[in-house]
Amino acid sequence: MKEIVSRHRLLLLMTTTTYRAHAFLEAARRLELPVVVGSERVQALAEANPAGHLSLDFSAPEEATRTIIEFAKVYPLGGVVAADDDGVILAAMASAALGLPHNPVEAVAAARNKYRMRQILAEAGIRSPRFWRFPLAGDPTAMAHRVEYPCVVKPLSLSASRGVIRADDPAQFVAAFERLVAILQRPDVARSARRSAQELLVEGFIPGPEVALEGLLTDGKLRMLALFDKPDPLDGPFFEETIYVTPSRLPSAVQHEIASCTAAVASMLGLRHGPVHAELRVNAQGPWLLEIAARSIGGLCSRALRFRDGMTLEDLLLRHAIGLDVTALEREKLAAGVMMIPIPHAGILRQVTGQEDAKRIAGIEDIRITIPIGQEVVPLPEGSRYLGFIFARDHTPASVESALREAHRRLTFVITPAEARPAQVQRASPATLGADNLPLLEH
Ligand code: ADP
Repeated sequence: MKEIVSRHRLLLLMTTTTYRAHAFLEAARRLELPVVVGSERVQALAEANPAGHLSLDFSAPEEATRTIIEFAKVYPLGGVVAADDDGVILAAMASAALGLPHNPVEAVAAARNKYRMRQILAEAGIRSPRFWRFPLAGDPTAMAHRVEYPCVVKPLSLSASRGVIRADDPAQFVAAFERLVAILQRPDVARSARRSAQELLVEGFIPGPEVALEGLLTDGKLRMLALFDKPDPLDGPFFEETIYVTPSRLPSAVQHEIASCTAAVASMLGLRHGPVHAELRVNAQGPWLLEIAARSIGGLCSRALRFRDGMTLEDLLLRHAIGLDVTALEREKLAAGVMMIPIPHAGILRQVTGQEDAKRIAGIEDIRITIPIGQEVVPLPEGSRYLGFIFARDHTPASVESALREAHRRLTFVITPAEARPAQVQRASPATLGADNLPLLEH
């Protein structure tokens, strides 16, 4: 193994809403690596610890890069890692300015723009669905006659399947278009909207099972760290992620094709260094890449991955970021999986029961409900969060999958309409009401 290239401070770019802070900070602590957290808000403790916090506007990456360069003059930086999608362009820009190994900024930006990515891949002759780009201000009825069916209507730059809607005919297309326009006008979306939010993308629907590939690029060479099957069919009209299980049960030749396709796409886009997370579908024609991002897997899902000596994905990524050779770090032999718990319907999350019972199932490692009780929950396509995550590890992918399903079955979520007054809610105790009386009680 190569010696550590840099023991300089590592810049971790994280939004204040990231799920990943703990995992990355723990990994840095284990590596005894000094860390500076770059985020979009001034941290309460920033003044007391100027070497530990940096306030950066991720949406103005040129200016943020200048701030980083000034910081690095005082506290030299040995690596820049973006925890989530929001920081990837800044990470590439700052790394370029600091002379650190990085992805070209244009490559990262292309991967973040679904239309640009489709253009590049189609020009490169990589298997792609037909696609169309339309202005949001256009007439949906006219558009509905230009596309093919079934198709998928999607925003150019949201994530987590937000706003992605299948349409099987012109009437569904118009409905999907109008629903997406309304999503893009929601205050939380409009606030972070970029110019690309003025357009939408339509793609031919690609049938077939879906997988997620977690990979690591070093000098342009892709190494597959894990391939996750998604055993629940994703046929729409919305595309809610639920279960991810690794290793994949697909034949090894197909897995090989998936890895080759992802490597070809990364290379066409110009991605060369650091983590990639790709989503693909597979059918009789072979693998089809839906999306690739220059970041690692989102949410708390990385907890499903464990590498040699119990290392986490974040351990591996930070080692890679400071120039260590991580090729010997293989994923463990056990199968593992995660379920992103879907939001069954909109309302206020009042109560979650059954967690202890669910944790007793063989193979279940942990259950994390990530939406606080009392908060509003919004399902897809308008929403962008999950109720939480269930983690399992066992000897086979099949036993992991069934443990996740059984654990989910044992959980009960009480969600009441947002306008319900608390007094009404308190009376609706699941312990005293039968299931028939609780139309809002869902799994
Ligand atoms: P996001 O970046 O929001 O996750 P994607 O473009 O990856 O958006 O789409 C989200 C999900 O929607 C995919 O994981 C897939 O299940 C489904 N999807 C998107 N595009 C297509 C397509 N062309 N054909 C079939 N399914 C699709």
